[in-house]
Amino acid sequence: MTHSTGTLYIVSAPSGAGKTSLVNALTDLDKQIRVSVSHTTRAMRPGEVNGVNYHFVEREEFVKMIEHGDFLERAEVFGNLYGTSQSHLLQTLDEGHDLILEIDWQGAEQVRKLMPQARSIFILPPSQQALRERLDNRGQDSDEIIDGRMREAVSEMSHYVEYDYLIINDDFAVALEDLKAIFRANRLQHNRQQQRYGKLLAELLG
Ligand code: 5GP
Repeated sequence: MTHSTGTLYIVSAPSGAGKTSLVNALTDLDKQIRVSVSHTTRAMRPGEVNGVNYHFVEREEFVKMIEHGDFLERAEVFGNLYGTSQSHLLQTLDEGHDLILEIDWQGAEQVRKLMPQARSIFILPPSQQALRERLDNRGQDSDEIIDGRMREAVSEMSHYVEYDYLIINDDFAVALEDLKAIFRANRLQHNRQQQRYGKLLAELLG
């Protein structure tokens, strides 16, 4: 089989839209897909694991990484710094894995400029009410933080037009099917099929 490089996917959503649950369900079903672990200066939430959900670092360390040019993209969200380090990214793609970046619209803008071949997906909740309920259900943040997040969510959502695909996460199972369909259709593009089926195509057309 000819060497096939993976595709880079950007997945963005306002917090509470169910992005992480959808991405986790997708990667449980498809072991070929990897998810990039970002660096952040935000405090760890209960249940989060360092190195799994994020690489949790002090602001000083994050700034050093910026100075070393370690980040492909970075942004400040809710007063915390987030960034995608380049080191594993290119290697993972080169190994043939599709790679998902769960990042905000500011990061997406930077990645699109650097890697125009990346595909981007925006996930929206079915209503503002549902979004608020989902934020409340987390039960991990104060009302004040949730109000702030609602305002941020509305501003974040206005960026959906910059993305290739839009998924409305009303019914989880349907949204997951939509997400799977994007990955599947993308793998069927002829340039990717050429990488996979070079020998067959040469035989057929020979
Ligand atoms: P949370 O703190 O709730 O996990 O994430 C807050 C926001 O930061 C989300 O919109 C999430 O997508 C975004 N985010 C997480 N990691 C990164 C990253 O590496 N880069 C950028 N630009 N945004 C990120």
